Amino acid sequence: MAQGFGFQVAARDGAARTGVISTPRGEIRTPAFMPVGTAATVKAMLPDSVRATGADILLGNTYHLMLRPTAERIARLGGLHRFMNWDRPILTDSGGFQVMSLASLRKLTEDGVTFSSHIDGSKHMLSPERSMEIQKLLGSDIVMCFDECPALPATDAEVAKSMALSMRWAQRSRDAFGSRPGHALFGIMQGGVTRELREQSAKALTAIGFDGYAVGGLAVGEGQEAMFSVLDYAPGMLPEDKPRYLMGVGKPDDIVGAVQRGIDMMDCVLPSRSGRTGQAFTRHGVVNIKNARHMDDPRPLDEACTCPACRSYSRAYLHHVFKSGEIIASMLLTWHNLQYYQDLMAGLRGAIAAGRLGDFAADFHAQRAAGDIEPL
Ligand SMILES: [Zn+2]
Repeated sequence: MAQGFGFQVAARDGAARTGVISTPRGEIRTPAFMPVGTAATVKAMLPDSVRATGADILLGNTYHLMLRPTAERIARLGGLHRFMNWDRPILTDSGGFQVMSLASLRKLTEDGVTFSSHIDGSKHMLSPERSMEIQKLLGSDIVMCFDECPALPATDAEVAKSMALSMRWAQRSRDAFGSRPGHALFGIMQGGVTRELREQSAKALTAIGFDGYAVGGLAVGEGQEAMFSVLDYAPGMLPEDKPRYLMGVGKPDDIVGAVQRGIDMMDCVLPSRSGRTGQAFTRHGVVNIKNARHMDDPRPLDEACTCPACRSYSRAYLHHVFKSGEIIASMLLTWHNLQYYQDLMAGLRGAIAAGRLGDFAADFHAQRAAGDIEPL
């Protein structure tokens, strides 16, 4: 474990755990949800507002930041925390996933990936060494190994070959990262939906040794059932005393299911992105604020929620500002969604600590199944 970085499990309930990751920039209560601050901002939110929802850590995207404004510029300006005015922990991804999903003219070799920027077509290169360099320039607290995610659908042979490459890259990431007290490096397990490959990947990563481990290659379109079937065994293959991170997950019910299966950290653009498209997550499921049924409704989105959107505004107002294209619609709905996610995490943490996660999950599913409040 890197000096100045630690993980303490306080309680367990089945495979689920709750605890604290400690870093020099503050504690991260687990299970933790990390809002995504792609381009050095959680869209439509001030950092203090993100913190007010209960977030202990944000995620930044290496791919976006290396292209614009560039990691070198951010480093000259004092690092990502100072640049975006967030002094708590930041986790950065390695850039690999976004190269595969956003960049064009990709060329993959043993050394790394060359590609053209989706912004201006300029040529760039990412390798384990370059990804470690960029994440260091950004000043990230939790650095992710550079890996390759095979595009789906892929054959077992393709997944195996890609996983083996990712494990060689994991070793190179470890070597390039070196020793950086207070900063952690996480390895990323690959292997698709094949148990044997997951086992091989877990063994390779554990032999190298990381401060935490991500379950990668999931939430890429395989569906919840396939994802949960991997999560039924994959977290248990990773060291018990290190945090386990499920990348890019997810919907609220994905989160509850992943936590029940032993995941400690997650991130997703869903709460912020959905807020900007008029979708609100509530205890009663998803509410589409653009629906005409809200036009005359003076009630809050969710009467139990403490966010500004619910405390001070009606569904009718949220409907109006969304339909009018007003910026405040994105601000309020994003805040609400992030609040909902953080409240869900707090509920999960409390339920695990109390040994009643099963009841909590049953209640969560029952409330969602009952659906939104009746129209007026
Ligand atoms: Zn709310």
